[in-house]
Amino acid sequence: MCGIVAYIGKKAAQPVLIESLKRLEYRGYDSAGIALLKNGKIEIQKTKGRISDLEKIIRETDCSVHVGIGHTRWATHGAPNTVNAHPHTDFSGKFAVVHNGIIENYNTLKKWLQTEGINFTTETDTEVIAHLIGYIYSKGDCENAKCGDKQNKFEWAVQQAIGKLHGTFGLAILCADYPDMIIGAKKGSPLILGVGDNEYILASDAAAIVEHTTQAIYLSDNEMVTICEDGFHTKTTDNVVISKELEQIEFSLEAIELGGFKHHMLKEIFEHLARIPTETEYASEFRYRNPIIEDGTVVIAISQSGETLDTLAAIEEAKERGATVLGIVNVVGSAIARTTDAGIYLHAGPEIGVASTKAFTAQVAVLTM
Ligand code: GLU
Repeated sequence: MCGIVAYIGKKAAQPVLIESLKRLEYRGYDSAGIALLKNGKIEIQKTKGRISDLEKIIRETDCSVHVGIGHTRWATHGAPNTVNAHPHTDFSGKFAVVHNGIIENYNTLKKWLQTEGINFTTETDTEVIAHLIGYIYSKGDCENAKCGDKQNKFEWAVQQAIGKLHGTFGLAILCADYPDMIIGAKKGSPLILGVGDNEYILASDAAAIVEHTTQAIYLSDNEMVTICEDGFHTKTTDNVVISKELEQIEFSLEAIELGGFKHHMLKEIFEHLARIPTETEYASEFRYRNPIIEDGTVVIAISQSGETLDTLAAIEEAKERGATVLGIVNVVGSAIARTTDAGIYLHAGPEIGVASTKAFTAQVAVLTM
């Protein structure tokens, strides 16, 4: 797991990215980095270690830049060191990419790009995405256009590259030729667009968004968003324009703050002792959809985040075999909540501590009921 974030708006991007990464740090904490688009150039700062280590190498706050992306890593491919930390750039230096997920066919793509003369500098699967976009962009003849037009060359190159990827990704991408634009894309990893007042924050998790806005768009698999300072549009990754519903983020900033506790796990242990919802309260929320269970098999998928990849893969398999799938999840609107036929929300509130406490207790309570 990793956390990605992207910001475009009237605030200085650098402090927004750093604060957002702190809220996402539970998703990965072996290395961290940010990329800012400054005077038409991409500037990267990244390091091994935690967000506090990243803060140490950023000597002064840059208030002049309003567009940037950030990452906090939990490595899957390549050692947790500074070179492998995201953002990753392409050979031309025009593109910067942050990625949450795994590219299964990165080795095949890497070998092919190497035969095209591209040198790789990291051990990650993510670097292949940056080079692939850069390579396609450098060869492409798609006309340049402005944000809001049907398609621009940046979008086109991202779509072509995504079409070659096997695996999972939540992506945020910068292009130096489009200094007021960020592209996000999703398949198998969560991605939420916070829609503020002339500002947008794209992140893996609503925890990074609530400080700025509670209005959000939850991207589904194979969808992408192109964001500018004055608007955004959503499409499928094969370029069909789609309109997405604006949803309300269900929890407040207080729910994810430490509130005097030393760390989140301690806070959450105390929260789970506070109160377990009654059977009547659960019953009134029992269905988030209304399945017709005939004589087939019922499979129950249990997850705090509602994004657990192995569980999602098992749900797909169960559905293919004709099962009715019920979900017991904590995060409202998460992938498992969306793909199961019905289920129960745990109502445990945001759980940030990596070892599950209150969500586990709520799962046991729900299963007992
Ligand atoms: N595969 C990428 C890496 O190792 C992202 C890791 C993740 O999302 O867990 O850098």
